[in-house]
Amino acid sequence: MNGLRDRLARQARLATKRISITSLAMIFVILVCLSLVFIDGWRSWTARNIQLQEMGVSTSNMTRAIAQHADDTIKAADTTLVGLVERVQADGTGPGALQRLHQLLVQRVRELRQLQGLFIYDEKGNWLANALPATPSNVNNSDRDYFIYHSTHFDPKPYIGLPIRSRSTGKWIITVSRRISHADGSFAGVALATIDMDYFNKFYESFDIGHHGAIVLGLNNGVMLTRRPLLADTNGKSIANTPLFRDHVAKRAMGTIFIVSALDGVRRLNSFRHLEQYPLFVATALSEDEILADWLTDTYLHSAGVGILLIVLSMLGFHLVGQIKLRLNAEAELVRARDALETLNQTLERLALQDGLTGLANRRHFDLALDKEFSRAVREASSLALVMIDVDCFKQYNDIYGHAAGDECLRKISEVIKTNQNRPGDVAARYGGEELGVLLPGTDVRGAMVIAEKIRLEIHNLGIEHAGNSAGVVTVSAGVDAFVPILDLDNPLELIQAADKALYAAKSGGRDRVCENNSVIHSHQATTQQESSAIL
Ligand code: GH3
Ligand code: MG
Ligand code: MG
Repeated sequence: MNGLRDRLARQARLATKRISITSLAMIFVILVCLSLVFIDGWRSWTARNIQLQEMGVSTSNMTRAIAQHADDTIKAADTTLVGLVERVQADGTGPGALQRLHQLLVQRVRELRQLQGLFIYDEKGNWLANALPATPSNVNNSDRDYFIYHSTHFDPKPYIGLPIRSRSTGKWIITVSRRISHADGSFAGVALATIDMDYFNKFYESFDIGHHGAIVLGLNNGVMLTRRPLLADTNGKSIANTPLFRDHVAKRAMGTIFIVSALDGVRRLNSFRHLEQYPLFVATALSEDEILADWLTDTYLHSAGVGILLIVLSMLGFHLVGQIKLRLNAEAELVRARDALETLNQTLERLALQDGLTGLANRRHFDLALDKEFSRAVREASSLALVMIDVDCFKQYNDIYGHAAGDECLRKISEVIKTNQNRPGDVAARYGGEELGVLLPGTDVRGAMVIAEKIRLEIHNLGIEHAGNSAGVVTVSAGVDAFVPILDLDNPLELIQAADKALYAAKSGGRDRVCENNSVIHSHQATTQQESSAIL
């Protein structure tokens, strides 16, 4: 019973172990895969941020370079204008002075590549001098915004005008102008330098801004002077209401921000900066998608690599889990086989100690039990009793009723004896033939006599017909002996002999009775007991 419980518990433990180990292995594989995905995702995200950061820095640098370029370009034109204004104010506008002025203007335009032209106008907007080979007739520039500005403002600073198409070349130009004043300070005209827009455009072409990037040069009031890429309505168009200008350019000297274009929905990295000396700003924008294009390719490649790695890892992992399962199953199978073997061994062991006919302990078992209980009785100084039972006139029974009936009769008698084993240590055995023995550890003669008498009576009362027996039914005779064995003085055989002797007495006394041994065999017992009492 206990063995079965142990086996079941062991198998349950094994099943739990199998589940937990395979679950752990599965969790491990999943964790490794997730870690891989997480690490690659994190690496990719970091690379993206670094890429954006680096592009922020390089966009800002590009903006600084463009702003510096615009500053230098205008400064060169403006410095020329300062000289011209001074000269006109000093030399006047007489024919000779104008002739010399023309030479100077031609020379300056030749020297400065950015200059498209240099012009001197009188207070009415008429052309006084210019750098052109021939002055167009009947042209008047009093309608230009720079002329109107200088004629109405006493402003010694240069004025950057709205982008216009040149009256002389038809090309888009940027105007830089200064007021010419009379000695009394009144308006005397305007000195104008025009800068070819292409000069800027060419410079802007040299930057790699991708397909969706842009570079803008504009006035601080939001009017665009030029732009790359150049659109049909770029020049002079106001971007004052765009989020970039309204929320950032108009408010700060410089900055770098991401803005989604309201025009094409493209998210761009914008960097802007105001010119240091002139009321202009430049802004550069790079499309986020283009900035991240390389990163994206790299990420795709990495993801593909990680994907393949994940597939391989999962396959290996699940194979591993499968192997673990197989191994555990084999282990469980082994345990089952061992348990079955154990059960078989126990059965064999039981069979080896059991009598086949009666189911009682066999002689071998009886001998072993007697030795064991005898030693224990010696150790514990406890009484060991033996009841020897022999069926009366059994030979006749066999003769009258046959051997098979005799066997059946023996089985019935054995059943009665079995039911009279009251303690776990009691051993009822078939001593030999129709002679049976009941070993009763921890029992004295009186107790053994009671049990023997009970057995005798119950067998008698079975009422198994026996014509060859004087009682008319099957009866047994029993001999009883019990004593506390002493080490080195007594041996198990004495107990058997004593019980046998008592049995003999029972037979002699007329059968169907129980006798206890009163012979000398254990007379020393009484002596020993008396001695013990004396000592105590
Ligand atoms: P007593 O009252 O003096 O014991 O007379 P008895 O006939 O029983 O004499 P004894 O003990 O010498 O006889 C034993 C007989 O028991 C001999 C044998 O035929 C019979 N016997 C022994 N073992 C078996 C057995 O396993 N089966 C059967 N049917 N008979 C057995
Ligand atoms: Mg007999
Ligand atoms: Mg006999």
